[in-house]
Amino acid sequence: MDIKKNLDLVGKNIEAACAACGRETGEVKLIAVSKTKPLPMLEEAYACGCRDFGENKVQELVDKYEAMPKDIRWHMIGHLQRNKVKYIVDKVFLIHSVDSLRLAQEIEKEAAKKNVCVNILVEVNVAEEESKFGTTVQESVSLVEQIAQLPHVRVRGLMTIAPYVEDAEENRRYFAKMKQIYVDIIHKNIDNVSMEELSMGMTGDYEVAITEGATYIRVGTGIFGEREYAAI
Ligand SMILES: *Cc1c(COP(=O)(O)O)cnc(C)c1O
Repeated sequence: MDIKKNLDLVGKNIEAACAACGRETGEVKLIAVSKTKPLPMLEEAYACGCRDFGENKVQELVDKYEAMPKDIRWHMIGHLQRNKVKYIVDKVFLIHSVDSLRLAQEIEKEAAKKNVCVNILVEVNVAEEESKFGTTVQESVSLVEQIAQLPHVRVRGLMTIAPYVEDAEENRRYFAKMKQIYVDIIHKNIDNVSMEELSMGMTGDYEVAITEGATYIRVGTGIFGEREYAAI
């Protein structure tokens, strides 16, 4: 696996996608999704300049946090159980996967204890897939309004995991819908909410997501290669 070569290619693709829609390359931040991958691969990506890493399991994130340099920004991108919030509130840069008020309240509780303010994104199940976490499109705005009441939690934007598709163009309508919800929320001018980030687009569809307004793209396979999951 040539991580450097992969990163160069992703970088070029980001540039091309930005050029195609008139955005500045600097508006799009790449998260290297390192879940299931061993430390030497993360170290290689780090040596190539990656400072944003995404993980989807609390224990794995904490282990890698301890082992890796401290200037890394860790992104929690997977479903988060309330009983595990306490392990990561002071370690993560951004939690992308907040999809309920109960989870946000737990983050509030643990953040208050540690006297930190936790940046979060609200996850929207924009394609209404049954298998996916995330709030519904209809409930997303009111969820943002409710979370905005929590003093140690700061909503910074929205996240979505689009369906797995052969043709990335099929997801364009979902990314466009996310952008629309995002803009609607900006216009509401909610106190304690700073809508700045739209986390959308993975290896198969990040270029489409960029042209629809993504500010964070989350790329795993395209950097580190296919993942192998141990059989359970
Ligand atoms: C695994 C994962 C990714 C990266 O997926 P790839 O297709 O390997 O790029 C992005 N976002 C989330 C939430 C993930 O769980």
